[in-house]
Amino acid sequence: MRDLPGTERNGELVESLKLFLTAQSTAVAETRYCSDCGSILGYLPMQFWLEGGDKGWNIPLPYCPDCHPLPVTKETFIA
Ligand SMILES: [Zn+2]
Repeated sequence: MRDLPGTERNGELVESLKLFLTAQSTAVAETRYCSDCGSILGYLPMQFWLEGGDKGWNIPLPYCPDCHPLPVTKETFIA
């Protein structure tokens, strides 16, 4: 069934993605601990935008400063 028209299925996907992102962005960031080293996880605010959408989401992604020291900004600092 790979030759189905994609638009309707994409629409459903986008809708469920929106629901997911909205739920994530309104969730209270709680203190969590790394399952590997036990450090308090930091939160990295990420912006999510859907193609063609007029709305973005700010979603804090948990990361461990010891196991995963800011992979996103690290790349930015490579000169
Ligand atoms: Zn860790």
